Amino acid sequence: MDIFAVVAADRDNAEPDHQRDWTLDFTGVVPRDLWLINKRSLEGFEQQEALHSYYGLTILLVGALTPFAFTLLLFFPLLPTLFARLRPYVVYPSTFGGRHVQPLPHGIGNAPTMGQGMYIVFFVILNVICSAVGHNSVQPNAFYKNTREEIMLYVANCTGVIAFALLPLVILFAGRNNFLLWITNWSHATYLLFHRHVARIFMVHCIVHSIVEIELYRSQGLAVEQMRLSYWVWGVVGTVMACALVVFSARLFRRLTYEVFLVLHILMAILLLVGCWYHVELLFKRRWGYEFWLYAAFAVWIFDRAARLLRLAQTGPLRAEMQELGSSGVVRIDIPGVRWSLHPGHHAYISWPGLSWWRTFGSHPFSVIPLSHCQHPDDEVESAITAPSTGSGRTSPTLAVITDLEKAVSKIRSIPLHTRPLIRPGVRLYVKKHKGITSRLGSARNILTLLEGPYRNHSVGVAPNAGVLACDRLILLAGGIGITGVASWIRAHTNVKLYWSVRECGRALLEDVQQSGLLEPLSRLGRLEVNVTGSGQRRRDLTDTIEHDVVDALHDSLVKGVKVGVISCGSPEFCDSVRSGVVDIGRRVGGLVELHYIEEAFGW
Ligand SMILES: Cc1cc2nc3c(=O)[nH]c(=O)nc-3n(C[C@H](O)[C@H](O)[C@H](O)COP(=O)(O)OP(=O)(O)OC[C@H]3O[C@@H](n4cnc5c(N)ncnc54)[C@H](O)[C@@H]3O)c2cc1C
Repeated sequence: MDIFAVVAADRDNAEPDHQRDWTLDFTGVVPRDLWLINKRSLEGFEQQEALHSYYGLTILLVGALTPFAFTLLLFFPLLPTLFARLRPYVVYPSTFGGRHVQPLPHGIGNAPTMGQGMYIVFFVILNVICSAVGHNSVQPNAFYKNTREEIMLYVANCTGVIAFALLPLVILFAGRNNFLLWITNWSHATYLLFHRHVARIFMVHCIVHSIVEIELYRSQGLAVEQMRLSYWVWGVVGTVMACALVVFSARLFRRLTYEVFLVLHILMAILLLVGCWYHVELLFKRRWGYEFWLYAAFAVWIFDRAARLLRLAQTGPLRAEMQELGSSGVVRIDIPGVRWSLHPGHHAYISWPGLSWWRTFGSHPFSVIPLSHCQHPDDEVESAITAPSTGSGRTSPTLAVITDLEKAVSKIRSIPLHTRPLIRPGVRLYVKKHKGITSRLGSARNILTLLEGPYRNHSVGVAPNAGVLACDRLILLAGGIGITGVASWIRAHTNVKLYWSVRECGRALLEDVQQSGLLEPLSRLGRLEVNVTGSGQRRRDLTDTIEHDVVDALHDSLVKGVKVGVISCGSPEFCDSVRSGVVDIGRRVGGLVELHYIEEAFGW
């Protein structure tokens, strides 16, 4: 009932059919009870709208700031030690049978770790509470004839608003330039996992919103009429896309072809946003402010895409040299000319437009190793200075300078190479061939390469006193091609031990890495153990290996309380075994040793 009806109710010659065209050209009294009903209904509705906005903001901020809050706690005294004690119990263990990087049975997905699981459960509970609590009925109501209809309206509106509030978060967690990665110590893999779970929560809100709206209009006898309107159709587009995005992002589909998955995913996400936009634009004409959630979502996405373009443009088109390493199925790729300040755990997204035009849509992540780390002491240094011939016996002033420089260079050459840094800008990758774009890699020169990066898996420097680099010893555990993920940690710490397990078929990779001098700082100090499996040599027990080194660190320590960092990279089974080992040992030596664990897994 609107105000015209209220006025009409007190006018003798009311013409119900034309109420809306009336001009208020007389003085009338609105009956108090009708006025009160309208007032209370409008106030109740307004309170609900405000409540939904608070809920939306709460969910968005709690979702985004929880990782930040936990990182901030690491700056307080004693808390880092307390957290370190708790991690083997409540953060590191997997929630399902020691599987985290390994998929769950029937490939239905990956189980979160306990820490990730707690965030997800907490977030689900928060969403349920916000969707279900605080919907107070105001009856009699000017708009809804009974409490059921009224509450249905509030629940529909609330879930719609919360779904919109989740959109920026879903997009943020998926991004490569997620600002939370820069200010928290949570990993990129963790944010990707949250992206999938928050997207599922978003989908549930969309479904609840749609079902409740349908039921509400059906009970009012308006469903058929509403369903013909454009805003409704766009709403359906949004909900269907939300469901399709979740279904087609299942591990099964992601693994089929990355590029097809990616293109479909982006197209569906765009359709979802367009659907959301027109759903509220056509219905509310930007009067209620729902569009601000969408502006936030657009901003997050545009920022990520713009930053990616900028990173690509910064490096520009590059040329790569590729060398297939025997029958190991691994290709070594050198990309000269890249000057990046690289930190441990850095990776870059790479595409090779010349190898397959349609696969250029997707760039693939690979760990990057600075070429300067790959020098070998036997390397010949080619002097960049060549004295030009003047043709006369006299030395020109310029040449005199050059000759001096040459003398200086020959002096420098007499210093052993490993004691001084060599200038060799560029990055090296070792790529294991799979069925997609990597299957096209082989020995070749001058291959057009686009490089986007560098990106970090973990911001180890965010809480310097509590990070893995603050540990007294680092244990690196690599399985096969996983050497690329741990290689950049070798020179990041002074007390590093590397255990590398390689299958016999990967011997060519082993030889190439050893010849590259990458492991030289460790092999020189006897801090490298390579285990070639499949050649009669027993497979390394990872728990024993960690335990042995932890005990070693305890013996070497002159003080009470040792911090040991464990970093793993390898096959899913390998990484999960290391995780189980860390959990097991962490629980046993809790009081004596703080164990920090970082996984550089290739999973996503
Ligand atoms: C942070 C990170 C660092 C990595 N570093 C290396 C490395 O140094 N050396 C190396 O050989 N491999 C590395 N990988 C794995 C590498 O990205 C994939 O093996 C590669 O993308 C496979 O390409 P493909 O088209 O041939 O794969 P496909 O044959 O299509 O698939 C093979 C496997 O790779 C996965 N995959 C495909 N595309 C991607 C993608 N864009 N992102 C993540 N996974 C994908 C698939 O899910 C599947 O499990 C890394 C992965 C990540 C996430």
